[in-house]
Amino acid sequence: MTPLADFLASLGDLSAPPALPETRALRDDELLESQRVLAEVQRRVSAATAAIAGEISFRSRRELGHDGLAAQNGERSAEGLISRLTGGSTRDARTLVRTAELLPLPPRAEAAGEPEPPRPRWLATLGEAVATAAISADAADLIRSRLATTEPVGAAPEQREAWLLALAEAAARLVTDAPGLTLEQLAARAAAARDTLDLAGIAARERALHDQRYLRVTKLADGMTRLTGLLDPESAAIVVPILDTVTSPRRGGPRFVQPAAVAGADEIVRDERTTEQLALDTFVELIRIGARVDDGRLLGNRTPSVRVLVTKRDLDAAPVDGERIGAAYFEGHDDAVSIATAERYICASGAIPILFDGDGRVLDLGREQRLFSEKQRVALAARDGGCLMCDRPPSCCEAHHIDHWDEHHGRTDVDAGVLLCRFCHLLVHNRRWRIRREGADYRLEHTDANGVLRSTPLPSRSRARDRLLATA
Ligand SMILES: [Zn+2]
Ligand SMILES: [Zn+2]
Repeated sequence: MTPLADFLASLGDLSAPPALPETRALRDDELLESQRVLAEVQRRVSAATAAIAGEISFRSRRELGHDGLAAQNGERSAEGLISRLTGGSTRDARTLVRTAELLPLPPRAEAAGEPEPPRPRWLATLGEAVATAAISADAADLIRSRLATTEPVGAAPEQREAWLLALAEAAARLVTDAPGLTLEQLAARAAAARDTLDLAGIAARERALHDQRYLRVTKLADGMTRLTGLLDPESAAIVVPILDTVTSPRRGGPRFVQPAAVAGADEIVRDERTTEQLALDTFVELIRIGARVDDGRLLGNRTPSVRVLVTKRDLDAAPVDGERIGAAYFEGHDDAVSIATAERYICASGAIPILFDGDGRVLDLGREQRLFSEKQRVALAARDGGCLMCDRPPSCCEAHHIDHWDEHHGRTDVDAGVLLCRFCHLLVHNRRWRIRREGADYRLEHTDANGVLRSTPLPSRSRARDRLLATA
């Protein structure tokens, strides 16, 4: 451990082994001062790094072709070369190159063959602030992108001059304020300054953000599918609060659980999902519900249905060491899914038996079985009031058949169904728990953490049903 002064003095000496500064012995005020001093060192270093990056970029400029510095070093771009040298991302390298354009460096007019246009005053202000280590390169880049406004169209020279002056003043104010702000706060303040300067441009900026929105679906080799995308502010305002509401109990927000439901089966459902998994499940659930309630405007009459294909032999096979062995396939997908998943789909959406002969020819197509009708679902929702195992509402629920899929023959009885949300439904099938009916009530037979078989009542969550029974 080295005292801070020695540490700072040794920073530029790469022949000395790297050392960490002494921290334990520091008084509180010394500790805070050290953090401040080192941040300034970092800003100085990043300004210098940007200057170097700018020069590398200049010596790699497009006109030089294969003679460019990056090309000579086997890289396609200056950013590629810089990130290889720094071990950083190409995105960081781009920030460095952009920052270099702001810095008050000697003009390169001769080398480039044409004089450089003078830098607008507000950008020069930012460059000055980076060069003097008043703000970080990241802060300057952020102010630059957030404060940028379009020049007023058809403005008279003195109007244009006033606009440039206002922009420079705003930049100077942000530079002064930056040291006390986080980058997020700085971004918000720069955006506010820009909107004040350019009220007329708000609609155009909104359009520009709106134009950048996208959602890309990429099938990956391992069977997963990646979603990437950008939400414009309006889309985010619709989607984000919904996801937040669902994940907020994890993040310390309110948890909306009715006391009666807690008393019921709360301890059964140990939701082991991460917050991100919960967000994704919610997203999928919303799409599924949305497709179901679609009134024909978005999907027309082509509402896609999810079909799963599985052989009866696999469905009937006895478990080996508690595991169901076999393969099922979602129609149109090559990756196999488990028998438990197939069973859950049959449970919720019914099955159509297809009889094949030994050569794989279709001999007979049976009638759809075990599908609860819309009317029966209404009855289930009125009776159960939502998932019997947790607190999700009926709109999030599937109808679970309490009988094994071939234990009854074509008859779909409301008594044989209970509402479970997708998560709890998965749990029941994956753990091979059973739900049994006792008169008008249902119980869950499940093994607890110690492998002991338990029977837990699954009380209805329907207030209307409570009222009915109380006043009968
Ligand atoms: Zn089920
Ligand atoms: Zn549930």
